[in-house]
Amino acid sequence: MRIILLGPPGAGKGTQARRLMEKYDIVQIATGDIFRENVRTETPLGKQVEVILKEGRLVPDSILTEMISERIDRSDCRNGFILDGFPRNVVQAEALEKMLKEKGLCLDCVVQIEVDDENLIERISGRYSCSSCGEVYHDKFKKPSRPESCDKCGDFGKFIRRTDDNKESVRTRLEVYHTQTAPILPFYRSREILKSVNGMAGMDEVTRQIEAVLKAENGCNRLSAE
Ligand code: ADP
Ligand code: ADP
Ligand code: ZN
Repeated sequence: MRIILLGPPGAGKGTQARRLMEKYDIVQIATGDIFRENVRTETPLGKQVEVILKEGRLVPDSILTEMISERIDRSDCRNGFILDGFPRNVVQAEALEKMLKEKGLCLDCVVQIEVDDENLIERISGRYSCSSCGEVYHDKFKKPSRPESCDKCGDFGKFIRRTDDNKESVRTRLEVYHTQTAPILPFYRSREILKSVNGMAGMDEVTRQIEAVLKAENGCNRLSAE
């Protein structure tokens, strides 16, 4: 299964990707996480993208396409993958299509998670995660059962907040989403693999909706059957 989770910052892509990963035994490829890890470990790539991430702008397309191509080739992607945060503009969507074709692969489904902008601000400003295992939490919508303790891995005192989850950066990221990322919706609609779910619902309900969509949809098979 090869899918894309598409949606504005804070829509719940990471949260849902982690759930799907377990259910379908596929890997999550979260470009934002990859960049943040590079910034943290001060790699040359990390140094190159640090300011861009902080300001909420997009990293240059050439960096993304090379990174994704190399990532998809790794053996853990054998069963498939969930792209979370890529593609983010039409150039990247076109590059992905070409790249998959060259590798003899195709997409099963593009799932759009729809959430209003006002709710996104609240979601992003309350977001934090476990630095040990990556589990995502929220001040109001997803608290750990014991304070400071991760429900998933049990580690204590490992919660962190993203430095780009501040008001200035969020405003830029939302604007970037509407002007640069939203235009890829018609791109996938025209390929008949775009499905939408209501991201305003609770996390479990969103998961149910995505699973229902994935059960019904099989763009890959349909394309190869043509
Ligand atoms: P969010 O969870 O808020 O949607 P991400 O973690 O996906 O954000 O991305 C964080 C930052 O990493 C983005 O604001 C951008 O600077 C950079 N980034 C991630 N994916 C891409 C991409 N496909 N193209 C360009 N920049 C990207
Ligand atoms: P994205 O990866 O799209 O940027 P996240 O999965 O990181 O989004 O979610 C953003 C924040 O909103 C997190 O703190 C998460 O716990 C919370 N969240 C995710 N899905 C929902 C939901 N359906 N309802 C309420 N809060 C949610
Ligand atoms: Zn954890």
